[in-house]
Amino acid sequence: MTIDQTYKLNNNIEIPKLGYGTFQTPDDKKGVEAIVNALKLGYRHIDTAQSYRNEESVGEAIKLAAIPRESLFITTKVANAVNGYENTLVSLDDSLNKLGVDYIDLVLIHWPSPQRFREQWQLRNSEVWRALETYYKQGKIKAIGISNFKPHHITELLKTATIPPVINQIRLCPGDVDTETVNFCRQQNMLLEAYSPLGQGLIFDVPEIQALAEKYNKNVAQITLRWSLQMGFLPLPKSITLERIKSNMAVFDFQLTESDMAILTNLTGRCGDSKDPDTVPF
Ligand code: NDP
Repeated sequence: MTIDQTYKLNNNIEIPKLGYGTFQTPDDKKGVEAIVNALKLGYRHIDTAQSYRNEESVGEAIKLAAIPRESLFITTKVANAVNGYENTLVSLDDSLNKLGVDYIDLVLIHWPSPQRFREQWQLRNSEVWRALETYYKQGKIKAIGISNFKPHHITELLKTATIPPVINQIRLCPGDVDTETVNFCRQQNMLLEAYSPLGQGLIFDVPEIQALAEKYNKNVAQITLRWSLQMGFLPLPKSITLERIKSNMAVFDFQLTESDMAILTNLTGRCGDSKDPDTVPF
């Protein structure tokens, strides 16, 4: 049981079961150092986005860590400002350049209904998706997926898509599981990636999780990440702190019981809530 474990996506690509998040990781020396540390410690799956404005730091870290490209799994996401087939291709070229790679393993549509295209989100998503399909067919992207999509967004996308999404990346942590979306994605054979798996820090003050940490002789983050894995999700913890980066990986050597899983699942509203993608102010 190690960090080398993978899930198989619906297009047969393998994806490491634990990723390394980079939202709010600075685009500077400190950010590069954190990502290099993660890669040297054994993380192989890095999650970034055009809107995080740190793709260059991810690229720099990839170069410095000197790990064979085929051992890495790099994800980026099409920003909310991007619209239209041609603009999406331009944005993907920019991501390829900034990351310094010949191909990107996974590209997601970041949000289904960005504020500025909210009146025509269906058209916007179908055109962005068409561009993703083009680069997928050319081998510049190995897998394509979505993020923050609810069932109605997915149903609409599938009307024009010729290649189905492999993944939906949504907010998933103890007490914040959108069961309807999770079940819908599973029916479509889509993997669920768990963003903000540590509730952006909110999990650390929850006594029930602290008690489980004591019981299993693990820390609160490890209990929460283990819950995510046992739910069949792919968690993407973010940390730029060396000790935390290291300890967040140590989640493959223990198992939560079914009743302890239920305690975590039932912490409704205690670790924060997902945003409604149809009303987010961005
Ligand atoms: P997380 O739930 O991963 O929490 C990150 C916070 O927890 C940071 O403040 C970090 O601090 C702290 N932390 C990490 N590990 C530990 C630990 N072991 N002990 C104590 N504190 C810890 O939040 P994110 O929102 O960053 O989500 C993770 C990733 O998911 C993102 O980085 C991004 O890649 C993705 N994401 C995707 C979204 C989407 O719309 N698709 C939206 C949000 C996130 P520090 O870094 O200082 O160590």
